[in-house]
Amino acid sequence: MHLEPSGRPVADILGDVRQGERISAGDAHTLLVEADLLELGLAAREVRDRLNDPTVATYNIDRNINYTNVCTFKCTFCGFSKGPASLNLRGKPYLLSNAEIADRVREAADLGATEVCLQGGIHPDFDGDYYVQVTRTVKAAVPSMHVHGFTALEVTEGARRLGEPLQSYLIRMKEAGLASLPGTAAEILDDRIRRHLCPDKITTAEWSYVMTEAHGIGLRSTATIMFGHIDGPRHWAEHLEVIRRIQRAMLFGSFSSRSPSIEGSVMSSRRLSSDRTTDTREIRRVSLVPPQRGHEAFSSTSAKDL
Ligand code: SF4
Repeated sequence: MHLEPSGRPVADILGDVRQGERISAGDAHTLLVEADLLELGLAAREVRDRLNDPTVATYNIDRNINYTNVCTFKCTFCGFSKGPASLNLRGKPYLLSNAEIADRVREAADLGATEVCLQGGIHPDFDGDYYVQVTRTVKAAVPSMHVHGFTALEVTEGARRLGEPLQSYLIRMKEAGLASLPGTAAEILDDRIRRHLCPDKITTAEWSYVMTEAHGIGLRSTATIMFGHIDGPRHWAEHLEVIRRIQRAMLFGSFSSRSPSIEGSVMSSRRLSSDRTTDTREIRRVSLVPPQRGHEAFSSTSAKDL
């Protein structure tokens, strides 16, 4: 896909949005580049109010538990992972024990959390049974806790290392207590960008496959975009279009946008010719142009302080 702005006037596109018409990916590209923030925000608010009770805003209390920062993958934006090549950089590698994970789950519940988000590096010693066991650990510690865990990369690797079909593996994860998958590992769903950002990670098609399989067996998931590195509005619009295509068959629980935290990463020390700065208007636009369907609106957030 080589997306170009549609060339339609912003007012016409926003008129279609207000009418509940489906806009094209090219139209989304135009909005991301040209739309006045206030007009875009007003249209987004109208859609939100049409799809949801305007007097109600929902949230949940969640604790992130990152069980390890040891990772064999080589995402150039990642300042979190540790591996043999980066030992002693950015602090020490760690791997939480089951007891530590259970303690964090109980502590979160005591503070009012109803959900834990479980994600971490792809440790060379892990196979898929590690994630099953972590899920059981959480449910044993606090049976009512919603387990939102394991990226599309983690479950793909987990199943692959066991030699198990993804669907059968996801069914076992669900039986262990997994309720939903985070949409992370999506980064930018454009393989031209992924080749630079995360060359050994799953492809756009593989990410989409995991989400479709997960929903097919009754799991839920969220969707994310991580943007503002070597990508631009064309890639954001393409990313949103991939999510929207999947969304035709199922419903993501939320959509969140964030900027990468590249401190200490390969990217932070390598000046790329296409480096660009994402300004706050672009960040706001990406938060305001999420794909929507049905009666549940996406929540849009940005990791940047706007
Ligand atoms: S972002 Fe990439 S390198 Fe960092 S922990 Fe995840 S898979 Fe590993």
